[in-house]
Amino acid sequence: MLRLPLCNRRRDRSHVVCSGTHVVLWLACGRGDHSVDATRSIPLPEPGKFWHITDLHLDATYHLTDDPTKVCFSSKGAPAIKAGIYGDFLCDSPYSLIQSAFTKMSQVTPQADFIIWTGDSPPHVAAGELSTDMVIQLMSNMSETIRDHFPRLPVFPALGNHDYWPQDQMPTSTNTIYQAAAKLWAPWLQAEALGTLREGGFYSQLAQPGLRVVSLNTVLYYGPDKATANATDPAGQYQWLQGTLEKAAQNLEKVFIIAHVPVGYLPYAREITAVRQHHNERLVSIFRKYSHVIAGHFYGHTHRDSIMVLLGPEGKPLNSIFVSPAVTPIKSVLEPYSNNPAFRVCFYDPSDFSLLDIWQYYLNLTEANEKQTANWRLEYVMTEAFGLKDLQPHSLLQLTLSFVLPQANSFDKYFSHFLVSYDDSIRCENGCKLSQVCAMVHLDHKAYSECVGGSSASEDSFALL
Ligand SMILES: [Zn+2]
Ligand SMILES: [Zn+2]
Repeated sequence: MLRLPLCNRRRDRSHVVCSGTHVVLWLACGRGDHSVDATRSIPLPEPGKFWHITDLHLDATYHLTDDPTKVCFSSKGAPAIKAGIYGDFLCDSPYSLIQSAFTKMSQVTPQADFIIWTGDSPPHVAAGELSTDMVIQLMSNMSETIRDHFPRLPVFPALGNHDYWPQDQMPTSTNTIYQAAAKLWAPWLQAEALGTLREGGFYSQLAQPGLRVVSLNTVLYYGPDKATANATDPAGQYQWLQGTLEKAAQNLEKVFIIAHVPVGYLPYAREITAVRQHHNERLVSIFRKYSHVIAGHFYGHTHRDSIMVLLGPEGKPLNSIFVSPAVTPIKSVLEPYSNNPAFRVCFYDPSDFSLLDIWQYYLNLTEANEKQTANWRLEYVMTEAFGLKDLQPHSLLQLTLSFVLPQANSFDKYFSHFLVSYDDSIRCENGCKLSQVCAMVHLDHKAYSECVGGSSASEDSFALL
């Protein structure tokens, strides 16, 4: 219902907001752009664009069978009673789902400049079901699948907490998996990047002149990683990061930070940072210091669609942060909701690499299984959905502030997108909404605590915004 008028409105605005986007408009709308009067267009350069895909979580055991408890190992014995050819909400991704996502992406032209892929190839299964060799095999399978669909596109991967065996236990020095990743990703990365990837699971590389991708191994800062429990600078990544950002500043480059586990607080929990709290504080302080170099942050891991704005100590918006939803639709039996499978394309201004827009694609999994066809569609265009002129930090801050205005319904829309249109009847109010909004704009402990005001997730007052 939303989609067609959305495309029409967008077409009218493309002259003003972001000239050149009309070329891609028709691709998403699935029809020609005949109504555009080219003579009225201001000849600005085409926006740059890149795909962001994350959390593929391939479950190679997925198969349709009469016994719903045996559909996939990742359901851990729970009955996948709605299982279809593209998956089930209690299972990780069947290969058909992943294949359909990349097929859709490869059909959208003109093609993107590059892909960022923020990790987690293996399924959610007990450690005993996997091994180092199996994890490498899964990472290899996903890398090959991407290469098959995009033989000429640069790809910038990041390691996820599942891209290790046992999961989460990333070491602080070279090991079989970092070495395997360097081998698998050698077609995409240069020697210097492969060198640090082999040693610590992180790297940086120029994506194009003036734009550097910094791929962090934030699993080293993740709570369950026992290997880094007592390390102040695991694998020397902080020192490397600061040196890399310093050099980028001197060379007048802009940086996209990509990583699996995000910085900041989890939007669906209370007082829980995604990485260990002291590592979160350190990351926030580095990102603040170099915010003039960083043009955007792109993360995965939560499987949900969310935004954050990094504020300076005085509340000035410094950086836009985007967490992309997952391809896998999995949830546990105990969770009330999940996400539909998703991937996205991000548009940026090629003159300064600032973020202009995000087009979020999704697959209605229930419908895809019913119709036995994977009809990936545009879920929403971020600027259109929220009436923003771009996705720069001050625009995102305005949006988050609008969420707490009385009678504002923009937050309901945001929350529906948070779940990738899993179920629009699910509401997030009171304590749930407070957790979401505080996590959006307060990434450090002091500011976040003041925002939630010591209230528990079930209480219903906003302390501050
Ligand atoms: Zn994941
Ligand atoms: Zn993860």
